[in-house]
Amino acid sequence: MPVDWVVIGLDNGGTSNSGTVLDAGGRFLLGQMAEVPSDVREGPDKALLRLVESVQQVLGLTGVPLASVRAVGLDTPGPASADGVISSKGATNFGHVGWHGFDIRTALAELLGLPVIYNNDGNAAALYAHHARFGEESAQHGSVAAIVGTGLGGGIIEAGQVVKGAAGMAGELGHVPIPLDGLLGEGQPTPMCNCGQPADAESVASLTGIQNNLLPYWLTKYPDHPLHEVDVAKAAKLVRGYGEDGDPMALAIFGQQAVAIGRLFSIAAAYTDPHAYFVGGGVVEAAPHFRDWFLDRVRENTSLRMEQARVATITLVPELDMAGARGSAVAARERSQPATSGMIWPISMAWLAGTS
Ligand SMILES: [Zn+2]
Repeated sequence: MPVDWVVIGLDNGGTSNSGTVLDAGGRFLLGQMAEVPSDVREGPDKALLRLVESVQQVLGLTGVPLASVRAVGLDTPGPASADGVISSKGATNFGHVGWHGFDIRTALAELLGLPVIYNNDGNAAALYAHHARFGEESAQHGSVAAIVGTGLGGGIIEAGQVVKGAAGMAGELGHVPIPLDGLLGEGQPTPMCNCGQPADAESVASLTGIQNNLLPYWLTKYPDHPLHEVDVAKAAKLVRGYGEDGDPMALAIFGQQAVAIGRLFSIAAAYTDPHAYFVGGGVVEAAPHFRDWFLDRVRENTSLRMEQARVATITLVPELDMAGARGSAVAARERSQPATSGMIWPISMAWLAGTS
């Protein structure tokens, strides 16, 4: 099948931009990471030039001319509006005052002279996980993805599309309150989230949750643990390594995270009844025995009806390091498909049209 156009996907992170190229037929032309520094902390002017550099890099690596690029998909961490206006209060990566209320999507589109399609990073990774699993049948499936990082990101995909919601705030899975009965240890305080809520999924299942809530409690139960000697922010990052080595305190912490994600998925089952539940983040990039243990604990704690359990899968976000760029590219490609009567073609119809 001859391919006459491509889209580019860009994942804008705190330290680097990752880019990829997806052709009209749905093939990624780069098999590995392509990165440049993101310079986001230096403000929009510098960071936008770095995004352009990322475009040049992936075109150079694939030998595709700029004239063949039909659109660019872009993701950044939130909070941002559904079409890429960074929060007026800034954000973790966007502390520079120039970012406050900055429309990164429009700015990049003007700089490149190309349409730019925006998603937040959790939604982009969720979209990639969905398309990697369902391929040409993406439009016939739904999924949810929970990605454990500093916070708990992810997204909801319905009929192959990101659910953004009226205010662009759908799929904020981290801030869904979860039941705590049987989750907390004896005397364990109610976990608090940075968003101000008690007992939401992120207050347990995130690095921030470990640092603020889980580790301070569990250290009191293990008075001889070596992590008592380490600053809590640093210690929180070391818990995973201990978990891989079978340390009981670390397993207690990750056990609580798995229960929290399972309960979040149980809520998702009642809301959107998806075909797939994806788990991503540091904990699943860990040693295979630890990752499998964690995923099994998530499965044990996800309550599905028998009919749901028959058709649904609980699995990993594939290639998480590339998922943001790839999901951004998938979103850009969908917007670039030939449209009929104002409708975006589902990816499966585009595929059928292209091969018949
Ligand atoms: Zn929250």
